Amino acid sequence: RAIEEEQFLVYLQPKYRLSDGSPCGAEALVRWFHEQKGFISPGQFIPALEKGGYISELDRYMIEKVTGCLDQRRAEKKRFVPVSVNLSWMDFYDENMLEWIVRGLKKNNPNEQKIRFEITETSLAAIGENHTRMLMHLKENGAEILLDDFGSGYSSFGMLQDYDFDILKMDISFVRNIGVNKKSESILRAIIDMAHQLGIRLVAEGAETEEQVAFLRANGCDYIQGYYYYKPMPENEFLQLLDEGK
Ligand code: C2E
Ligand code: CA
Ligand code: CA
Repeated sequence: RAIEEEQFLVYLQPKYRLSDGSPCGAEALVRWFHEQKGFISPGQFIPALEKGGYISELDRYMIEKVTGCLDQRRAEKKRFVPVSVNLSWMDFYDENMLEWIVRGLKKNNPNEQKIRFEITETSLAAIGENHTRMLMHLKENGAEILLDDFGSGYSSFGMLQDYDFDILKMDISFVRNIGVNKKSESILRAIIDMAHQLGIRLVAEGAETEEQVAFLRANGCDYIQGYYYYKPMPENEFLQLLDEGK
């Protein structure tokens, strides 16, 4: 009912290229404004939706909204950037949904493909090999794949060996420890180095301070997403930033 009544909103958080500070993408994050309870955080309702088996319906809704927005920008010949949508591990058990995503990808020129998918390493570890292949099938059809929360859960170098990810997103906990914990800093440097040797780009999530940004820039991280630049914002505010060239 919340979907039908449009209580879910797409918020977008920009990502920036560290080398020159230019905008290079965004992540779509769901927000729920409940009619009586007001704002409810995704950390609260997403686990409930997963438990009830409804998460794929929400993810599909988010993909529709983001694709619609990107198509409109393209039609209006306005500036846009790639936007990534989060996938739950449950989406990989919904064959109809995956086929629907691939059909959507095939409609566009792969060089123009502006949708990306984020999957957490923990989700990836929870899905079987057959289903992981489906993830790569999305990639073959032009979508970039981003491995989220890297280093936080069941990290496996085997995953990096067996699958071609485009982007790694380092877990927020490492970034928080910049300037606090020397071990975290060494791990960050090592992850950046390893990813680059594998030809994978890196996003650091959750950068809030000048010090964190300076460390990440000095150590060759490619992109940054965090409150240092902007918090997730409603779609219209995000589009306004894009129009203003910010
Ligand atoms: P995530 O994918 O790891 O998303 C990043 C979270 O970090 C977001 O929380 C974002 O608002 C927050 N964040 C970004 N920059 C900063 C920062 O500088 N400081 C701090 N403290 N936090 C920052 P959010 O929006 O509450 O989302 C929580 C989680 O809910 C997401 O984690 C993701 O796993 C899930 N989620 C959100 N939207 C969707 C969706 O449409 N579908 C699915 N399946 N999961 C979603
Ligand atoms: Ca994410
Ligand atoms: Ca994350």
